[in-house]
Amino acid sequence: METLFSLSREMLATDNVAELVAAVPRAIIGATHARAAVIYLIEDDRIYQAGTEQVADVERPHLRQQASQINAVEKTGDEFRVPLKVGVKPRGLLLVRGLTLSSDAMEAIGGLISVSLDRASALENVAHAEATKESERLRSLMIDSITHELRTPLTSIKGAASILLSTQIEKEEDRRELLTIIDEESDRINKLVSQAVEMSQLDAMQVHMNFERVDIEEVIKSAQEDCTWVGEHHPVEVRLQQKRDIVADQEFLKKVVSNLLENAAKYSEDQSPIVVTTTVESGFLVTSVADKGIGIDSHEQGLIFDRFYRAPMHNQRISGTGMGLSISKAIVEAHGGTMQVISRLGEGSVFSFSIPLKPNS
Ligand code: ADP
Repeated sequence: METLFSLSREMLATDNVAELVAAVPRAIIGATHARAAVIYLIEDDRIYQAGTEQVADVERPHLRQQASQINAVEKTGDEFRVPLKVGVKPRGLLLVRGLTLSSDAMEAIGGLISVSLDRASALENVAHAEATKESERLRSLMIDSITHELRTPLTSIKGAASILLSTQIEKEEDRRELLTIIDEESDRINKLVSQAVEMSQLDAMQVHMNFERVDIEEVIKSAQEDCTWVGEHHPVEVRLQQKRDIVADQEFLKKVVSNLLENAAKYSEDQSPIVVTTTVESGFLVTSVADKGIGIDSHEQGLIFDRFYRAPMHNQRISGTGMGLSISKAIVEAHGGTMQVISRLGEGSVFSFSIPLKPNS
């Protein structure tokens, strides 16, 4: 009973077949002090063993043959051969040497191992199915989001180009307006595609980050230059309360700041102020972007960092892909920092991210 109990405890601790078959022989030796404990599995034609006495690999064909033939526990001297099964189908063989247990006890041990193997395979299948389902779900969300977001700029480009081609436009001003639409909408498509590529690269951990000493003031300045439209529609104030060096990838960090600036501008009224602040908090440089915009419902605050999540109320009205915040969060986490939001519906939001300070800074 004691042996069975300690074995079952060991086996329940493992949820995957590979770990389980490696752990079982060790657990048998630990619980019974047998000389040798060997598990042979038909499916992968391998021997897993523990103990002072080893079974040579040349015995594999013999074990294979026995695994498919034995139906009940067999005892020869102090050696037990116990069949392992899935239902009634043979799955493998347990061989134990140097043990003085009854055949009934050995049968119970065999049954316990078989059930644990079944349980681990079932858990593995569930985990695999869930991972596949999740990646399918993300793929179709990505396609939905991209096709939906591509349609609007493509329609505008097509419309403007058709007018330019079919009519003689008299006024230079009208012609320029149509060309500007084509120019701006192409930029939008470009951004969408780069975000999608960036996200899948971050997912597959295929990005190469170039960590160097970085001045946050420069990062904020270059982010503002990247999205000049924000400054044209909103007064942006930068308050560098505390400025310390960090080690970061300048380009990636700039993307985080410009994403937060663009969101602050997108989700607030024209001309409402945006404030960027940097402070130092317990070993981290914290950069915050605050707006006095529409704010975020408390139950949505935990969701907006998820990929493709967009608050349903702005889904149609304000253009976006739902990728920006999840990309930003992945970048910040790759730097060893965290990202968060404090927001109140109708009053505004403060997004902040922390980056570890450069040692000795
Ligand atoms: P996008 O802006 O392209 O939709 P993001 O990942 O950047 O994607 O943002 C996800 C969602 O979070 C947005 O759709 C919006 O609902 C909400 N959000 C982000 N920033 C703000 C903000 N400053 N104020 C209000 N809501 C915001």
